[in-house]
Amino acid sequence: MPKPPFYDSGKAKAMEVVLISGGIRHYGPGKDVRGTPSVDVIDRIMRCLLDEAKFPTECPAMALSCFMTAPPREERHYEHVGTHPAIIKQVLANEAGMAMAVGALHEWWYMTFPGDPEMDRVWPCKLALVCICKSGKHRSVAIATIIGAFLSAQGWNVNFQNNSDRDWQGTCRGKCEECRHPMSIALANSCVIRICQIMQTFALWEK
Ligand SMILES: [Zn+2]
Repeated sequence: MPKPPFYDSGKAKAMEVVLISGGIRHYGPGKDVRGTPSVDVIDRIMRCLLDEAKFPTECPAMALSCFMTAPPREERHYEHVGTHPAIIKQVLANEAGMAMAVGALHEWWYMTFPGDPEMDRVWPCKLALVCICKSGKHRSVAIATIIGAFLSAQGWNVNFQNNSDRDWQGTCRGKCEECRHPMSIALANSCVIRICQIMQTFALWEK
């Protein structure tokens, strides 16, 4: 199975990966955007979400736009959040959305660790990947959950952060039996396998 680089480094294992999810509609620079927001808008929203999460400014962070992924197809899933197994399965099946997510994951690691992993350099204590969709309920949460399952399976210390009090209004707030963490082992395996398939398709992380 391909691994993100430097997995075996003790320094890497001491880091915390923070997966933040949120929606553009709550913020001034994003609330009037129609369709797919520009890189500038995504970047500005990322800064807002990082501030809100009190993520240290000196630690590396990158935004992941989840707008290529389709929102939940079935109305009965609207009242749930992106950790719902049916929403995760739908996002996993979306070729464009998953290719974009894995591409961003790949870019994020190389941006964070540009050099030789053995070099004696200062390593960050935290890394953030900020998943952004329109409302912060479904797509960004599902992508963060899928990437989290992949990184956790490889031993990374993963934490999720979101403003559920605000973003998850009108949903089960991730507390119903189906949306509650942790996901089933079978579904976690599907997330890992799907990401590995895409990495192999695009020859990511292979020497
Ligand atoms: Zn639910």
